[in-house]
Amino acid sequence: MTEIAHRGYRPTLWERLAGAPLPSVSFQSSFWHATAPEGPRTGPLAGEERCDVAVVGGGYLGFSTALHLAEAGVDVAVLEADEPGFGASGRNTGFVVPNLITGLDPKLMRETLGEETGELLCRTVGEGAELVFELIRRHGIDAQARQTGWMQPIHTPAKRAWLEDRVTQWRDLGRPVEMLDRDAAVYETGSTAYHGAFLDPGGGHINPLAYVRGLARAAVDQGVRVFTGSRATGFERVGDVWRVRTDGGTLVADRLLLTTNITGNGLAPKAEGTQFPITLFQVASQPLDPALRATVLPNDRCSADTRKDLIAYRWTWDNRIVTGGLLANPFGSTERGRTHHIGRLQKLLPQLPPLVAEYAWQGRLGAARDFIPRLMELGPSAWSAIACNGRGIAMTTALGRSFAQWLAGGSNEGLPMPITKPDPVALPGLASLAFSVWLPWNRRVDAKELRDAK
Ligand SMILES: Cc1cc2nc3c(=O)[nH]c(=O)nc-3n(C[C@H](O)[C@H](O)[C@H](O)COP(=O)(O)OP(=O)(O)OC[C@H]3O[C@@H](n4cnc5c(N)ncnc54)[C@H](O)[C@@H]3O)c2cc1C
Repeated sequence: MTEIAHRGYRPTLWERLAGAPLPSVSFQSSFWHATAPEGPRTGPLAGEERCDVAVVGGGYLGFSTALHLAEAGVDVAVLEADEPGFGASGRNTGFVVPNLITGLDPKLMRETLGEETGELLCRTVGEGAELVFELIRRHGIDAQARQTGWMQPIHTPAKRAWLEDRVTQWRDLGRPVEMLDRDAAVYETGSTAYHGAFLDPGGGHINPLAYVRGLARAAVDQGVRVFTGSRATGFERVGDVWRVRTDGGTLVADRLLLTTNITGNGLAPKAEGTQFPITLFQVASQPLDPALRATVLPNDRCSADTRKDLIAYRWTWDNRIVTGGLLANPFGSTERGRTHHIGRLQKLLPQLPPLVAEYAWQGRLGAARDFIPRLMELGPSAWSAIACNGRGIAMTTALGRSFAQWLAGGSNEGLPMPITKPDPVALPGLASLAFSVWLPWNRRVDAKELRDAK
């Protein structure tokens, strides 16, 4: 636990019960960490610095906001507790997904957020994938990026009507999405378990840590001051500025945006408590025979299916398969994290040889009760933006651009979400256990759907 405290990453109750590996260690044990180019040279905040906008949190959201602000000529500084990508941004699966989580389609978003805001959020997320690949090209980021498409195969024929509706809704919004029939889905995924698929060719996959480090470098090149190893320990309003404290100094800013996701460690407890922390496991296999690529994801797309306990997988550039997901029971999860998800994938793709988890790591996701991202007001000119709910790469990159336009002087109407107050869940300390309760139920629903399909 000492190391976690040192790194400023406080374990959730679920993670405490799970024991090792410490989150900081598992950051370093990821395949992305082993292969991503270095980030920019940065160091901690020392003494007092002044800026127009202070961004706290060095993930995609923080760096996209900072980069776009700097491009608009705003003086901006980023405080990061550890190093760029130390949170979810450096540990995820690397799927660039141009839509919201399953169920949150344009119709529901219009009903929930209002016609204009709901539609704007969907458009913003949809365009997010193009923005990610465009930033990678524009800033020469070496993130092994492949814009080959994101797929969501359906696991039962009964999902076809839902699939058709989803395709129609996103097409109506201008997304170039396609509906794959059963044969095409089986070919594209390599699994006979599927009955059709949603395909957005604008999506794809990246090395997620390389991308966030590249964004950090691009931000530094644009004049953003990035202070790493600088955990914000508190902030207060003094006169008409915010003073953000770290162990080494103070950052003074006119406007403050927290992008600490679910790892803020009590910096803004009510805002953090608005989401459930969910610990996810990831593994990367040994390099496989490249000939297998002809039988599994032959077009190098990435796939995340419609099960509630979804199965997701992709290739890496050196012929490994990356997969992962949730575990219901925290006890002994370290070892099960290595084996459980590989076991599921082997059943789905029997043509693969026995897989070995050469790399295994974990990360923490934040999910709001309704799975909708939030921009929460903390005080005059201070906000916390959170809850990307597993659709982070395209979403946070695009939201960062929207927040930058707004912080640089845009109107609230241009925001793809309303500004709300923090609405913490009851007993936030127990929230990390919520998915342990929920997951077995979800698995039972999946199993019933599969039984009914026979
Ligand atoms: C295992 C896993 C797999 C996922 N797979 C995908 C995927 O394939 N595709 C996808 O789109 N999304 C995926 N996601 C979600 C995605 O990774 C996140 O939504 C996204 O990275 C969130 O970015 P962020 O910038 O909001 O937060 P983070 O990347 O978590 O950044 C927050 C940063 O704030 C810093 N910080 C915290 N507290 C402080 C403080 N007090 N002072 C200073 N700094 C602080 C942290 O160190 C951290 O670097 C996945 C998530 C996980 C965990």
